[in-house]
Amino acid sequence: MIHNPGIECMPREDMRKLQSERLVKQVKICYDNVPFYKKKMDEKGVKPEDIKSIDDIVKLPFTCKTDLRDEYPFGLQAVPMSKIRRIHASSGTTGKPVVDTYTDNDIANWSEGVARVMAVGNVGPGDVVQVAYGYGLFTGGLGVHEGAHTRGAIQLPTSAGNSSKQIMLMKDFGSTALACTPSYALHLAEVIEKSDVKIGDLKLRVGFFGAEPWTEGMRRELERKLNIKAYDIYGLTEMSGPGVGGECECQNGTHLWEDMFFPEIINPDTLEPCAPGECGELVFTSLCKEAMPILRYRTRDLTRLIYEPCKCGRTMVRMDKILGRSDDMLIVRGVNVFPSQIETVLTEFPVFTPQYYITVDRKDNEDSFDLDVELREEFFSPNPSKQMPYIKPLYDRIVSLVGIKPNIHIKEPGSIMRSTGKAKHVTDKRILYND
Ligand code: ADP
Ligand code: ZN
Repeated sequence: MIHNPGIECMPREDMRKLQSERLVKQVKICYDNVPFYKKKMDEKGVKPEDIKSIDDIVKLPFTCKTDLRDEYPFGLQAVPMSKIRRIHASSGTTGKPVVDTYTDNDIANWSEGVARVMAVGNVGPGDVVQVAYGYGLFTGGLGVHEGAHTRGAIQLPTSAGNSSKQIMLMKDFGSTALACTPSYALHLAEVIEKSDVKIGDLKLRVGFFGAEPWTEGMRRELERKLNIKAYDIYGLTEMSGPGVGGECECQNGTHLWEDMFFPEIINPDTLEPCAPGECGELVFTSLCKEAMPILRYRTRDLTRLIYEPCKCGRTMVRMDKILGRSDDMLIVRGVNVFPSQIETVLTEFPVFTPQYYITVDRKDNEDSFDLDVELREEFFSPNPSKQMPYIKPLYDRIVSLVGIKPNIHIKEPGSIMRSTGKAKHVTDKRILYND
């Protein structure tokens, strides 16, 4: 089901016109109301009048995460505090969190973005949407919550954690949709397996998973274990939160709601636009955000845009699965490694669970790459000689696909730490030596 066909299926020329109108307006608002943008544009020698259409976007300066931190908390705001209705902030593992603020219209637009994703799973009146993203400053919980509201569905705000209770409520309240991180969904599936609840006792039909990268293998696992359709939902605090885009019924790329968020792909080294279809860093400009509009925000997410028309009828551009964030990329013995590549390989092997943990270290001036993995219950034996036959094929596949020689350690099923939110997959001990 398409939530807003007039926009989602708009002819591309009309979309360009809409984007142009919105950009021209947005740039003027930024220049006139936010000293940060005035300064940056003056430095670059760009005036609002130079922006006549969406094609002129390349003339504008970029905004980085450090700019957002420097302008903490409200330096990028374009409206007075009396117009603000909500404040959110990202988890911000280091230093100050990244703040976003919202007017009433901003909350409505944000909910619209989430609602478009939920419509893909035919979520509507009568559906119980179990929102197991964290509620709080994190945009995941409340963002998805309001999207479910816009669809006229029943919101079940369980927030993250307390897995046995989640499952009890899922069964007793008849949840039809689940929204959480893919890693938490996997954990819930494991807890269900170990409980008295049978998948047949549940009404779950669809899942909306995001906030972290996940792979096709993980999708298959979640769809099989939970007996659902699993859709990707993408977003970031700087662009309001979840619902910047989502997968359609074709499950072949994430449509980006480009009437609200204009996407570009740039080469992170040269900062030049990439050729269409080329992989690079995703950059967004918010086209209708009132409270805290952002021009050309460098997300650090690596992906590519797909401009070929989609079979679903939506005309909005699609993006490929996010390979990872450029700051999550590990360089081990000179090889670039993304944690999601390990998940891709692991899920090719039915004997392993998709759980993994990477520890990178440096000994005698050489990098080491240790990988903890879990065999599924039915294949596990504590006897190392019985584990050997499983290690070799996994090792070979990682060497050929990722280009790194891992030290693989087989762990007991269930022993790798599970996450209720964004999963942590890596410890890089080398960072300690650089201080
Ligand atoms: P934080 O930066 O503290 O994690 P956010 O919740 O704003 O706070 O994180 C947004 C980031 O999460 C995105 O830039 C992206 O890296 C990641 N992300 C969100 N949704 C997805 C998704 N569906 N697939 C891959 N990565 C995602
Ligand atoms: Zn589509």
